[in-house]
Amino acid sequence: MGLFGGRKTVFVDADILVIGGGMAGCGATYESRYWGRDLKIVCVEKANIERSGAVAQGLYAINCYMGMQWGENQPEDHVRYARNDLMGLVREDLGYDIARHVDASVHLFEEWGLPMMKDPKTGRYQREGKWQIMIHGESYKPIVAEAARKAATEVYNRIMVTHLLMDEAKPNRVAGAVGFNVRTGDYHVFRAKAVIVCAGGASHIFKPRAVGEGMGRTWYAPWSSGSCYALPIQVGAKMTQMENRIVLTRFKDGYGPVGAYFLHLKTYTQNGLGEEYEKRWYEDTKALVGEYVDHHPVPTCLRNHAILKELAAGRGPIRMVTKEAFQDPHKETVGWENFLGMTIGQAVVWASQNIDPKHINPELTTSEPYVMGSHATCSGAWASGPEDCAPADYQWGYNRMMTVDGLFGAGDTIGGTAHKFSSGSFAEGRIAAKAAVKYVMEKGRDQPQVSEKEVRDLQQTIYQPLENYRVGRNEIVAGTVSPSYLLPIQGLQRLEKLMDEYVGGISTNYMTNSQLLNRGLELLAMLKEDMSSMGAEDLHQLQRTWELQHRVLASESVTRHTLFRQETRWPGYYYRGDHMKLDDENWHCFTLSRYDRKTGEWAMEKAPVHHIID
Ligand SMILES: Cc1cc2nc3c(=O)[nH]c(=O)nc-3n(C[C@H](O)[C@H](O)[C@H](O)COP(=O)(O)OP(=O)(O)OC[C@H]3O[C@@H](n4cnc5c(N)ncnc54)[C@H](O)[C@@H]3O)c2cc1C
Repeated sequence: MGLFGGRKTVFVDADILVIGGGMAGCGATYESRYWGRDLKIVCVEKANIERSGAVAQGLYAINCYMGMQWGENQPEDHVRYARNDLMGLVREDLGYDIARHVDASVHLFEEWGLPMMKDPKTGRYQREGKWQIMIHGESYKPIVAEAARKAATEVYNRIMVTHLLMDEAKPNRVAGAVGFNVRTGDYHVFRAKAVIVCAGGASHIFKPRAVGEGMGRTWYAPWSSGSCYALPIQVGAKMTQMENRIVLTRFKDGYGPVGAYFLHLKTYTQNGLGEEYEKRWYEDTKALVGEYVDHHPVPTCLRNHAILKELAAGRGPIRMVTKEAFQDPHKETVGWENFLGMTIGQAVVWASQNIDPKHINPELTTSEPYVMGSHATCSGAWASGPEDCAPADYQWGYNRMMTVDGLFGAGDTIGGTAHKFSSGSFAEGRIAAKAAVKYVMEKGRDQPQVSEKEVRDLQQTIYQPLENYRVGRNEIVAGTVSPSYLLPIQGLQRLEKLMDEYVGGISTNYMTNSQLLNRGLELLAMLKEDMSSMGAEDLHQLQRTWELQHRVLASESVTRHTLFRQETRWPGYYYRGDHMKLDDENWHCFTLSRYDRKTGEWAMEKAPVHHIID
């Protein structure tokens, strides 16, 4: 049987193709149907939308809700909040656009059956913090997925999308995507008039704290493989803020969330000696970032910075003081339930380590870095803004369209817009879909042309690792190491090690500099060269291979952006040892990159940050 023996090629034509059925993808699918009643809307997902994406096991809070119906917050307030947390650099037009629409999406979730916690006195949603509301969210994802399923013409689960297709006639226009079914191996060719990428952020590009059998235990979902960056990068879409990787302070070993503990249970942190330590680092931090340290709330990265300094001073571990709050039975229940709805692993870790937070203050630690666009970070594609409020140089067509014609994005995919979280990602999916439908309607019969040759060439490329394995395994006499191919796990570990050591991971306490970054790029180039010889034993390993390819491209983008920005804008996320201070004079700007797939070259540039909210 040859390389493609027994495998079908499935052709699917769509008006709108949504790649990734997580929060943003479900929002995009739902809204596409609302505006495009007679359009063919297809959603393609590598897992199953019922339980896919970062929200898969549920959430306990919706972290982005204005509460405009009760006058709690206005969209402008949220822009100021995100701008402050990201040390001044956010796309205010995009953030404002999400904030003004997000409440309506949350109301839909409730209408669809999501149990919301209510304040018994006011009847309003129970607040956890200024922006967060509490939910019984174990079934959050299935509820949202049901709406998407009903809206879609077709949902294709278990298809790993590997590449976007480009129009044969127009060089900068998207024409669809290709991928393979991870269960049957069938090759899927999606031809579409508009594509919305919603394929989630990236974990496992930096070496995780948990290694060996525990390596699947990361904070960000281990299956988030950077596809939302790699797919647009491959076809030349401009990316922004890829250096703005995020480091989370979480409960040690289980990555259990701390938000409800800080905000709702009013717990606080101490060093190993039982002392308050944040104030101790005030002058030190001020010397690095100036007046940003006086902002309220203190930006997330600066709180990490204080922890890292205190640990380096030898006064660890940092602990969350839970013993006081847990004396209150109600708070104790909330504390445990907080994990049961979304990070049950943390409860298991505590049980296994004899930690009862009523009697022992649990340790906190900082995570390895992740790349995403929807949390307290804003990596992603450079997108056109809303017609009514985006400055002229942020607008080149349709809302949320990237610099590639017909290619849209939402959620982790879109850069410059931190703090959208689950609800904001869903809302942004809806925003992108509305614009994509308009694009399709206005293009009319002007349909992109897919090249038969490109489709066949990609098929060869995608399945080649199976052939490499089939042939190369004959050279193995024992074990798994072959002179002829690289297995996905070997490539992944090589990537994680080099990103960790050269691009500012946990081993160097998030420190890097231009020499390290340049060496990192050299090692990445060698890894990429070796990856033309990937070997995949089966379809599962073939998926791992393509996830690795996407992670490597996302990693290269992160490295180039980190090298380009010659300052330390977010101490606590990473440090440029050769430029330790924040430099507003030269770097109060966005960083943009564009990858040329023909030459393999990256072009870097700066873009202005426009402040449209006072
Ligand atoms: C641990 C954790 C806790 C969080 N807690 C909260 C919280 O309490 N409250 C809150 O509001 N938000 C929270 N968030 C944030 C929220 O989950 C994200 O903001 C949101 O899920 C981002 O939406 P997305 O659609 O961009 O990505 P996702 O929801 O991750 O969806 C991406 C989808 O793309 C699919 N996909 C990926 N690659 C491919 C490919 N190549 N081909 C096909 N499909 C692909 C994935 O399988 C997935 O279904 C949390 C996130 C994490 C990781």
